[in-house]
Amino acid sequence: MAKLTGIPASPGVAIGRVFPVDRRRARVPRYHIQDDQVDSEVARLDSAVRESVEQLRQIRQSLGEGEQGDILDAHRMMADDPTLLQGAKGLIRDELLNAEWAVRRLVRDMSEKLGSDGYLAERRADLDEVGDRIVHNLIGEKPEAVALPMDEAVIVAYDLPTAEAAVLLSSGKIKGLVTDFGSKTSHTAILARALEVPCVVGAGQASEIARAGDLIALDGTTGEVLLSPDPTEVQRFEAARAQAKTREAALLEDRDLPAQTLDGRRVCLLANIEFPEEVPSVLAHGGEGVGLYRTEFLYLNREELPTEEEHFRAYCTILERMQGRPVTIRTLDLGGDKLPIGHRSHEPNPALGLRAIRFTLRHPQLFRTQVRALLRASVHGNLQIMLPMIAAVGELREAKEQIEVIRQELLKEGKPVAPKIPTGIMIETPAAALAGDRLALECDFFSIGTNDLIQYSLAIDRGNRDVAYLYRPLHLGVLRLIQASVAGAKAAGIDCAMCGEMAGDPAYVLVLLGLGIDTLSMNPADIPKVKQVIRVADVRDAKKLLEAAMAFSSHDEIERYVLDEMRKRFPDLISEAPAAGPQHPV
Ligand code: PEP
Ligand code: MG
Repeated sequence: MAKLTGIPASPGVAIGRVFPVDRRRARVPRYHIQDDQVDSEVARLDSAVRESVEQLRQIRQSLGEGEQGDILDAHRMMADDPTLLQGAKGLIRDELLNAEWAVRRLVRDMSEKLGSDGYLAERRADLDEVGDRIVHNLIGEKPEAVALPMDEAVIVAYDLPTAEAAVLLSSGKIKGLVTDFGSKTSHTAILARALEVPCVVGAGQASEIARAGDLIALDGTTGEVLLSPDPTEVQRFEAARAQAKTREAALLEDRDLPAQTLDGRRVCLLANIEFPEEVPSVLAHGGEGVGLYRTEFLYLNREELPTEEEHFRAYCTILERMQGRPVTIRTLDLGGDKLPIGHRSHEPNPALGLRAIRFTLRHPQLFRTQVRALLRASVHGNLQIMLPMIAAVGELREAKEQIEVIRQELLKEGKPVAPKIPTGIMIETPAAALAGDRLALECDFFSIGTNDLIQYSLAIDRGNRDVAYLYRPLHLGVLRLIQASVAGAKAAGIDCAMCGEMAGDPAYVLVLLGLGIDTLSMNPADIPKVKQVIRVADVRDAKKLLEAAMAFSSHDEIERYVLDEMRKRFPDLISEAPAAGPQHPV
């Protein structure tokens, strides 16, 4: 038996047989052509691109609605993109490269521009995959048709191409997925979550060790992968699977019960989403609204900017599907390494650079397009606008002024706009938390973004594994900053929500109740567990626990105390694993 540990990417336990899927890179012949061969080489390229677009269209058609279809649409658009085709033709004409070489060179150059971190690295994988398909078609090797396996299949791959992932995972035949490579934010991981297939990514050499047909077990909650497990281990996984199913069913039974403590404090549980397609999952898990829609995902999959109509359609879809429940849409948090394809940051320290609200205020045209769409969508549901990473009152004022100008412009055009759209800010910097009393006088709500607040207060790059051990939500400094934010909000009579990962960890529920946070926004799947803790919690007890915890000085002591107390009170709900670190998006 071999045991591997990877990154848990989609929860659930799977036991099945190894189904290896090889990502075969196309072999690329490289040679120079003669001048008189240019036209026929260009024609060959045209035909390979047409073939690729048609193949992707056919795969897309077989998938139906949802995330998997959207990703395939993006691939088809990339294959059909004139920049790619014209660029490759340019290399054929100017440098007399054969078509395969031209495609590979162009894709390499375009990918390099995307960098190797964060979201754009994922788009790079998409681009590579599309380039590979075109090369396969040029050399007359059909990209391997995905044979649908037996019902017990657990896919094991080095890195599963998105098109294959979409076909395989949506077939309903796949029990689980393990990849050697990848991150939680890769498209494949997103797909696995959307299609509820247990998945572990970044599992090292799984694809090298696993042999087709071998027994395999994986736990998408812990990241554990067992190859050829012995019967005792299989039993352990089966028990975990049964337990998880019973727990999930019990949790979902409480879906429509209010998140209210034993002593009557009503907490509002909202969801964080990245795609409009996630709305059904929000409702299925009992989400009372959307507390954070990360609109930058509208920008990241593509080369050109989304139009006002595209923004408008995405917002209306969410607002209408949420049927009057609150929907908090965050204006774009672009900048640093989060840039549309083709744009590149030259900042030495992007996390401290022109990101989020700073980026939008510097690019008023981008902000205008988004705000016009938001205001137009405001009459289609219960919209709240949220501004990311406000660190100074001046930024808030400037953003609000621009929003007001756009409102007047739309009214003049005769377009309806809701009379009052609550506009709030994310508290993500220590400065904002400490100046919370003043900021609160000029906005309608706060939402604490702990992912960034922890990064900026503890001076820890949230994407850097080397300092991940220092990423501690229960650091006394972080708790005091949350306290200051809540106090500022309460003094001005506005709501203080939390939408960082800390809000979705059941181990922190009493601490957050003690701190006075009444609105928590999290990944949809985390809602039921958090609700269960709330329903058996007591606010007086929470305040005492918080006071005792904050009497300790080191984050280790605070954490140990809180986790011990939580396990004593809720033994079935709080796991033995350490509380969550920075899970999104690194
Ligand atoms: C946060 O910083 O906590 C947050 C929710 O925003 P993001 O994770 O998108 O930066
Ligand atoms: Mg943030």
